[in-house]
Amino acid sequence: NVPKHIGILGSGIIGKNWAMIFASAGYKVIIYDIDQEQLINAVNDIQQQLKYFEKNQLLRGNLTANEQFNLIESKADITEVVKNAFFLQECIPEVLNLKQKLYTTIDEIIENETILSSSTSTFLPSILSEGFLHRNQFIVSHPVNPPYFVPLVEIIPAPWTTIEITKRTRDLMDEVGQSPVVLNREVPGFALNRIQYAIINECFNLVEDGIINVENIDKVMTEGLGMRYAFLGPLETAHLNAEGFSQYCSNYAESMYAVSKTFKSVPKITGRTAKIISEELEKKIPLNKLNEKRKWRDLSLIKLSQLKKKN
Ligand code: NAD
Repeated sequence: NVPKHIGILGSGIIGKNWAMIFASAGYKVIIYDIDQEQLINAVNDIQQQLKYFEKNQLLRGNLTANEQFNLIESKADITEVVKNAFFLQECIPEVLNLKQKLYTTIDEIIENETILSSSTSTFLPSILSEGFLHRNQFIVSHPVNPPYFVPLVEIIPAPWTTIEITKRTRDLMDEVGQSPVVLNREVPGFALNRIQYAIINECFNLVEDGIINVENIDKVMTEGLGMRYAFLGPLETAHLNAEGFSQYCSNYAESMYAVSKTFKSVPKITGRTAKIISEELEKKIPLNKLNEKRKWRDLSLIKLSQLKKKN
């Protein structure tokens, strides 16, 4: 009787994060990658990261870094990962036929209770799983990078995903300390990217119209809206900005509508304005400094997540 485990398919950025998240809650994790060298490096990297987190009091869960690392195993044979897994988190590249091909292999091995969950950022679950024979066991669990410190997981069932599978996925995410939100039905971009794109589109239009420059439009978020949004959603913000949401609506609905009607149509983020934005950003952060800035971003997110936990 092999003990049940969680299988991680793909050992890149997202796969490593999921492995650490599940191990932090005490789950046995088996990680798989098509590229053996990548898999070996991934396991070494996980060990280094866990040690670093422990040393800096960032480690999740109640187990030591060593105990967590001992829960993570790698396998070159996909059958050993899929068989006896109660949950599979797929984290391979965002290429439709690559994912579908992997699911065809999984179809031949997967048990009837196992959940196949995809980390996809863009593909609708119905498109990903239409040819998957066990498609009622399929779901999307879309994380936000870096998931170890940014807890949101968007859970999107396909039209044929059973209620039981959705519930078990949400419960698991809750249990391991992520913050799941379930969409009632699939929609392109899910929720996070629809909101993100609405913001990027408006930023683009404001720059294109010469209203504000790149540095200042980003400041509107980092020094203004973003400060609130790390703690309060836009709806709750509105609720607090008047004597409740109903009063907010009677105070502001008309003017909001009048402003919103002046929005331009959806822009294509290309052409002259895209070039201007790119040049201004590269002046601030040259391309050879992107990694440095990414490290700073991750560290800032870590500090923010700790502040939020204390709140
Ligand atoms: P990545 O390129 O870092 O890692 C992908 C890994 O999959 C590589 O190690 C590769 O060797 C392996 N792989 C390729 N084909 C495989 C196969 N057939 N079987 C097993 N392993 C295979 O990619 P990532 O950034 O970790 O993204 C993985 C998924 O997560 C994508 O669907 C992506 O859209 C999604 N996602 C990424 C982010 C992000 O910011 N990176 C955020 C949310 C969701």
